[in-house]
Amino acid sequence: MPDNLFARVLAVSDLGRDFLRPIDGPALRYREAFAISARLAHALVRHGAKPGDRVAVQVEKSPTALLLYLACLRAGLVYLPLNTGYTPAELAYFALDSEPCLFVCSDKNREKIAACLAGMVFLTLSDDGRDGSLIRQAADAPEVFADAETGMGDLASILYTSGTTGRSKGAMLTHGNLTSNAMSLRQAWEFSQNDVLLHALPIFHIHGLFVATNVSLLSGASMLFLPKFEPDAVFQALPQASVMMGVPTFYTRLLKDERLDKDRTRHMRLFISGSAPLLAETHNQWQARTGHAILERYGMTETNMNTSNPYHGDRIPGSVGLPLPGVEIRIADGDGRPVPQGEIGMIEVRGPNVFKGYWKMPEKTAAEFRPDGFFVTGDLGTIGANGYLSIVGRGKDLIITGGLNVYPREIESLLDELPGVEESAVVGLPHDDFGEGVTAFLVLKPGARLTQESVLESLSDRLARFKLPKRVFFVDQLPRNSMGKVQKSALRQEYAGLYQA
Ligand code: AMP
Repeated sequence: MPDNLFARVLAVSDLGRDFLRPIDGPALRYREAFAISARLAHALVRHGAKPGDRVAVQVEKSPTALLLYLACLRAGLVYLPLNTGYTPAELAYFALDSEPCLFVCSDKNREKIAACLAGMVFLTLSDDGRDGSLIRQAADAPEVFADAETGMGDLASILYTSGTTGRSKGAMLTHGNLTSNAMSLRQAWEFSQNDVLLHALPIFHIHGLFVATNVSLLSGASMLFLPKFEPDAVFQALPQASVMMGVPTFYTRLLKDERLDKDRTRHMRLFISGSAPLLAETHNQWQARTGHAILERYGMTETNMNTSNPYHGDRIPGSVGLPLPGVEIRIADGDGRPVPQGEIGMIEVRGPNVFKGYWKMPEKTAAEFRPDGFFVTGDLGTIGANGYLSIVGRGKDLIITGGLNVYPREIESLLDELPGVEESAVVGLPHDDFGEGVTAFLVLKPGARLTQESVLESLSDRLARFKLPKRVFFVDQLPRNSMGKVQKSALRQEYAGLYQA
């Protein structure tokens, strides 16, 4: 018997239970999900798709879009989801690099994409997943499919990392990577088939696709499938849910809604956050309003999930918790040598969750792995005496000013504590004299009145002079990507010339 992610899903699922409950349509049981994914798999294979071939997919979130992922797993195809925000020119890069055998896109984008990709075979899927050439071609296909003999070492997916500078890299994830991680999370978060996950995340990213979906599939759980995050829909779905997963922005937006209270959340088992740092203030406010301590976890495209705050035990605000079962974490210096406990260094990860490498980039892959198999994440962190990991910033976020290192997170947490500050981002900008100049961007709470002088005055006795921002800007909002991550590179770009003659 082949052992792969879909084989494991089949082994645990109860065909009569709900898999997906969309807000605008009937529930889809596991039995129906498997039947539809079989039809979709036939449609792909009829086009000549063979195990190992890539299938590029840029479609809106819908039940069919998710079942297309299952279809690829079943046929041994490598699922390559693409952010719906990518332009045709960006898509052309991904397609030329990954050489998919098929490209699934929405009807409305087909022509624009096809203009950049001569010779590509296209299938279409409408935004609600009910129409398009993929649906038409799958309609008469059988409801059973002879699943490919894929093994745990075979590729299940390629996800392009959201690198905003340089070329995007395709992270190759195997069935083994995805399966082992979902099993660890199922155990760590005590998922069962009684769980109903409120799913409002996009499905082109590891968070919504792998963390949320694979954990649910491997627990035989159900998902309340929202097309996108929208507070009205969340409050409508919440009474039926037992767990919610979100990016920090979900939580800050729900906190702004007066409907959020203990009564509406009492029945919930768990709230989980990840993909970007959750402010300690958000964690504390959520706990005060709902009585629930948000469980924060940490991962990345290349590694799946690495650490999590405990299900039982202290969920510490500002920390991303302990290594997941089977995952090793170390904090190392620039040469991969572990630093003394409590010191800041590069977070390195080893385990069955860690990806196979970057697609067609063996040198880049080799450069990011240590000889003993640890992957260099690019995140800076520190492990406390209690074993909990805290993230201090991205390696590339590190500011070096006048030869001295400044960790943006340290300044941001002081800024976030100032009365009147909603949130902050600190970046280093090219500086003629110092190399980089520390620069702060603040979003203020309504009615707050702060000036650059008052902010610097408040920090002056808490931070060494070299860490003090040289300039403080007040902005309406911070630039964010679709996962809620603050795009510091956008700030760096916009203000690049500030300290240069
Ligand atoms: P992505 O590959 O898009 O998921 O981005 C991964 C990056 O997001 C990590 O390398 C971290 O920099 C960041 N990240 C993910 N989860 C957290 C978290 N809980 N706290 C802080 N940063 C996080």
